[in-house]
Amino acid sequence: MTGSVQRLDTDYLVIGAGAMGMAFADTVITESDARIVIVDRAHQPGGHWTTAYPFVRLHQPSAYYGVNSRPLGHNTIDVVGWNKGLNELAPVGEICAYFDAVMQQQFLPTGRVEYFPMSDYLGDGRFRTLAGEEYAVDVRRRIVDATYLRAIVPSMRPAPYDVAPGIDCVPPNELPKFGPRERYVIVGAGKTGMDVCLWLLRHGVDPDRLTWIKPRDSWLTDRATLQPGPSFIKQFRDNYGAQLEAIDAATSIEDLFDRLEAAGTLLRLDPQVRPLMYRCATVSQPEFEQLRRIKDVVRMGHVQRIEPTTIVLDDGSVTSSPSALYIDCTADGAPQRSATPVFDGGNLALQAVRGCQQVFSAAFIAHVEFAYDCDDTKNELCAPIPHPDRDVDWLRLTHSDLRNFQRWLDDPDLTDWLSTTRLNLLADLLPPLSHKPRVRDRVVSMFQNKLNTASEQLEKLLTDAAAVPR
Ligand SMILES: Cc1cc2nc3c(=O)[nH]c(=O)nc-3n(C[C@H](O)[C@H](O)[C@H](O)COP(=O)(O)OP(=O)(O)OC[C@H]3O[C@@H](n4cnc5c(N)ncnc54)[C@H](O)[C@@H]3O)c2cc1C
Repeated sequence: MTGSVQRLDTDYLVIGAGAMGMAFADTVITESDARIVIVDRAHQPGGHWTTAYPFVRLHQPSAYYGVNSRPLGHNTIDVVGWNKGLNELAPVGEICAYFDAVMQQQFLPTGRVEYFPMSDYLGDGRFRTLAGEEYAVDVRRRIVDATYLRAIVPSMRPAPYDVAPGIDCVPPNELPKFGPRERYVIVGAGKTGMDVCLWLLRHGVDPDRLTWIKPRDSWLTDRATLQPGPSFIKQFRDNYGAQLEAIDAATSIEDLFDRLEAAGTLLRLDPQVRPLMYRCATVSQPEFEQLRRIKDVVRMGHVQRIEPTTIVLDDGSVTSSPSALYIDCTADGAPQRSATPVFDGGNLALQAVRGCQQVFSAAFIAHVEFAYDCDDTKNELCAPIPHPDRDVDWLRLTHSDLRNFQRWLDDPDLTDWLSTTRLNLLADLLPPLSHKPRVRDRVVSMFQNKLNTASEQLEKLLTDAAAVPR
C-alpha cells in the first residue's frame, strides 16, 4: 500500500462502467471533446452482466442495446429457438465482450478516457485502486453517478431465507453444474425465474418436475411488440396505436389492463390470476407457451425457510423432497429507487428517462448535457422514470414516457437526434419528417396531441383509482 494521494483532473468522473456509465461516456466522447475518468470496482466493464448467470441473454433486442456508436450483434432475425422470427438477443458472453471492445478499441484509444477497474469510489472525487493507491480527481464539469440503478443479481448475495443444512439451494449461476434432479424448485417469479424455467424446459426437463414459487404474478410484454427496424415498422406502429387506443377507451385501471391484454400488448401466464406486478419483463410467444406448461405453481407469498421435506412460506407450507434442487431467483434485478434530479450542479445521477430503457436514457442524458445550457432546462427534458414494480406502475411509467416524449418533440434538433439514434426504440415511430418547417410542425403537433390525450387519460385513471384504494 502507498500512503500518498495522486491527483488527476478531468471533465467528467464517471462512477460505474456498467451499461449506463458506458452509454453515457460514449455519447460524451462522440458529441464533445471532454475528458473522462471512469472508475469501477469490477475487473471489466459491463456492470451486473459480468456476474450474471451463464445462460442469461438480453430480453430486449440487441439492436438497441449497448452504446450508441457501436452496434451490438448483427441485427439478424433468429431462425431457430424460442425467439424465432424476432431480432437477436445477445447472450451474456457477447455483452461482456462487447463492452470490453468498446473500452479497449474505442474509448481508450481516444486518449481522452482513463479507466480504473478494480477501484472503489470513496466519495468526494476520491477512489482507491486494488494496489491501494488513492486518487483525488479535480472534476471540471460533473461527477456522474452511474451506480444509481443498483442492479442486484442472485449471485451477489445469499438466498434471503433460511435453508436447512444438506439442502441444495443455489443461484442460477450454479444450475448448469448440477446433474439431473427429480425435482426443481424455482423461487421467484421475475425475469430470472422465467429464464431458469425456460432453461430447464429447453434441456428437456418435464414441466411436471418443476415447482414454481410465485409470490406475485406479473404482466409480461410480448417481445414481438418491441421489434425495431423496417421489417417490423407496421407491427410496431400498430401496436403503439393500439396501446394509445386502449388507454383512451379505458374506464378503470382493471378495464385498461383487460384492453391491453386483448390488444396483445400485455400477457399473463394464468388467465385465472390477475397479476399485481409489472417489471418490464418480456417474452416471445413460444417462451410464453412453454412457461404455461408449468402447472405446479405455489402462490403463498415469499419463502421463509426451506426444511428437508417442507417449504415454509408467508401464507402456509407445501411438502417437498430433500433431494430437490432449489434455484434462488429472488434478487431484485432493478430495485425501485426514488427519483432524484438528473442534473444537480457538479453532480449528475444517471436514471431512466424512458421507462426500462436504461442505455438509451444514459445516451440521451449525455446528449442533453451538451445540447442545452442550464440545468433547469436539462432537468425538464430528463424527468426520471423510476423502475416499475406494481401493475399500476405501468400507468405511471407510460404517463411519464408520454410526457417526456411530448417535451422532446418541441425541439426539432432533439427530434432529429431521436430519429437517428440507434438506441432509440421509438426512432421508427415518427413518420418521416419534412424539411419544410410548417409541414413538419403540423405532423409533430398532431402526434403530440395524441400523446397528450393519452397522458391526460392516464392521469384521470390514476386519480380515480387513488380515490378508491384497491
Ligand atoms: C437479468 C437482467 C436482464 C436485463 N435485460 C435487459 C435488456 O434486455 N435490455 C435492457 O435495456 N435492459 C436490461 N436489463 C436492465 C439492465 O440492468 C440495464 O440495461 C443496465 O445493464 C443497467 O446498467 P447500470 O450501469 O445502470 O448498472 P450496473 O450494471 O449495476 O453497473 C453499475 C456499476 O457500478 C459499479 N459500482 C457500484 N458502486 C461502485 C463504487 N462505490 N465504486 C466503484 N464502482 C462501483 C459496479 O461495479 C457496476 O459495474 C436487464 C437486467 C437484468 C438484471
